[in-house]
Amino acid sequence: MEQQNCFFDWKYNCQQIKTGKLIVARKQRIQTIISCSKIYDDGKYVELEKLIENESNELTCHKSCVSMYTDKNKVNTFEKRKRDADDST
Ligand SMILES: [Zn+2]
Repeated sequence: MEQQNCFFDWKYNCQQIKTGKLIVARKQRIQTIISCSKIYDDGKYVELEKLIENESNELTCHKSCVSMYTDKNKVNTFEKRKRDADDST
């Protein structure tokens, strides 16, 4: 499979703005991305889970993008905000 674009382009539009080195994320990292995607509720985990089901287990992306996406502080902040919003109902 030839995938030369960053997986996170839809989120960070990064193909336009940077030419950073692409890395290949393996299964463990993909699983981290899946759990973050579920928190972000962006639906991306569906195709990632498929990827793992198919045992492709490889995802091309920028190192900086995957770090940003799975950043614990960002994820926690997002989760907290989501929880607070739920509480207000
Ligand atoms: Zn990227």
